[in-house]
Amino acid sequence: MSESIEYSFFESVIKSFDKAAKFTKWDIGILEQIKACNSVYRMKFPVRIGDNIEVIEAYRVQHSHHKTPCKGGIRFSMAVNQDEVMALAALMTYKCAIVNVPFGGAKGGIKIDPKKYTSFELEKITRRYTSELVKKNFIGPGIDVPAPDYGTGAREMAWILDTYVAMHPGEVDSAGCVTGKPVSQGGVRGRTEATGMGVFFGIREVCSMAVVMQKLDLTTGIKDKTVVVQGLGNVGYHTAKYFREGGAKVIAIAEWEGAIYNADGLNEEEVFQHRTASGTILNFPGGTNLKLTTDALELECDILIPAALENVIDGGNAPRIKAKIIGEAANGPLTPEADEVFATKGTLVIPDMYLNAGGVTVSYFEWLKNLSHVRYGRMEKRFTENMNKHILGQIEELTGKEVSEGEKLFIEHGADEVDLVHSGLEETMITATREIMDIWRSNPDIPDMRTAAYVCAINKVGTSYAELGIFP
Ligand code: GLU
Repeated sequence: MSESIEYSFFESVIKSFDKAAKFTKWDIGILEQIKACNSVYRMKFPVRIGDNIEVIEAYRVQHSHHKTPCKGGIRFSMAVNQDEVMALAALMTYKCAIVNVPFGGAKGGIKIDPKKYTSFELEKITRRYTSELVKKNFIGPGIDVPAPDYGTGAREMAWILDTYVAMHPGEVDSAGCVTGKPVSQGGVRGRTEATGMGVFFGIREVCSMAVVMQKLDLTTGIKDKTVVVQGLGNVGYHTAKYFREGGAKVIAIAEWEGAIYNADGLNEEEVFQHRTASGTILNFPGGTNLKLTTDALELECDILIPAALENVIDGGNAPRIKAKIIGEAANGPLTPEADEVFATKGTLVIPDMYLNAGGVTVSYFEWLKNLSHVRYGRMEKRFTENMNKHILGQIEELTGKEVSEGEKLFIEHGADEVDLVHSGLEETMITATREIMDIWRSNPDIPDMRTAAYVCAINKVGTSYAELGIFP
C-alpha cells in the first residue's frame, strides 16, 4: 500500500454496496438487512505453547442467514481483526449469491502468524478454535461450514473435521461440516486449483467479449496477453498456470520479498520450485529481479492479477498502474479510491466477489458430495463409457471408417469426479460473467463491473429475503 491511511475494510464494502443499491428497487429496510452482519462471535482462548500459555484471539462472523448453512473460509494472519472478518463475511454473501451457491456468507479468522508455530501447535490452536465454534453452535453441515483461506489449507480442514466428528459421534452428515478437506477425508477432487481456475475462466470469458475488448483496445482471447500476478500462493500459482497453459505470457510474478520479470513469460512451477529451494522469489535464473512488489504492479501489461491480500492498490498507486484489465483474485485488493481512479482511466476491474468465487463454488460441490455420500461420476462413468464404445462401434461399422486410437480414448472417456468438478466450475463462472455483463449493459449509468456485480448480488439476496416473507 502506498498510503498510510487506516482503512476500514468493512466500510469500503458498505461504500461499494451503497453505490450499487441505488440501481436496485429494494426498500431501505431490506437493504439495511442485506448489508448488516447478523452474528459476530469474538473469542479468546488459552493454548499452551512450549512452557507458556498464549491467549489466542479469534473470530467467526456470519454475515447473512438468508440461506443456510453459512459459508466462508478461516484465515490465519496477524492482520485478522473484527472489521476484516466482517468485511470478508459480507463479500462471501454476495459472492455466493452471484454464482448461485445457496449459502449465506461467513468468515473466520485466528490472529496468529502460522509461520511462528510448529504443526503440533497449529493443530492445538485449530482444534481448540473448532471446539469453541461447536460450543456456540457456530459450525455444522446445516449451520456454518468453514473452508481454507489465507494461511490455511487441507491440513487444517482435516483437523476441524476430526474435532467436529469427535464432538458429534454418529452424525451421518458430519463430513459436510467443513470443505477444502483432503480427498481421503471426504474432500472433492479439483478443490485445490478451484479458485485459480475460476479466475482464469472468468477473465477468459470477459476477454472473449468483442465489444468489451474493443473498448480496451485489446484483441479478443487469452493468447499472447501479457499478465502480471501478485502472490504465488495457491490462488496466484494456479491462476498463473492456467494463463500460461491458455497461451498468455505471465511476464512478472510478485511476492512480498520482491518480484521477477521476463518479457517472454515465466513458468510458475519453476518459479515456485526456485522459491521453495532458495527461500525467495528473487534471483530466479529465468528472470530479472524487480526490487519492490509494487514495481511489478506498475508494469506495462494487459492483465494485472492481485492474488494476495486486501488493499494493495489504493488511491496512491492506482494512477501509476498501466494494466488494461485488473482481475481481483484476492479478496478486496482495491480500495474504493482505486476504483474511482480506474473508472476514470477506463481500466476494467473484474471484481473479487465474483472472480474468486471458484473456491466456494467447488466447496459447494464438496458439500453436496458429503451429503450424498457418493463420489461424483461413480454411478455413471462406466455406463457412459460402454455407451460411447457402442455408438463409436456402430459409426465405424456403418461408415466403414476407423477412428484413431487417440480420438477413441477421448470420445469414449466417461467423466471422472475431477472432470465434472471442472466443468461445473466452468459453467458457473461463464454464466456469472454473462449475468453481470448483462446487468451492466442494461443500465448505462452503472459506472463499473463491481457495481454491476453488487447489483446482481443485492437483487438475489433481496429476492430471497422478500420471498422468505420477513418483509411483507
Ligand atoms: N476462502 C475462500 C473464499 O474466500 C473459500 C470459501 C469457501 O469455500 O467456503 O472464497
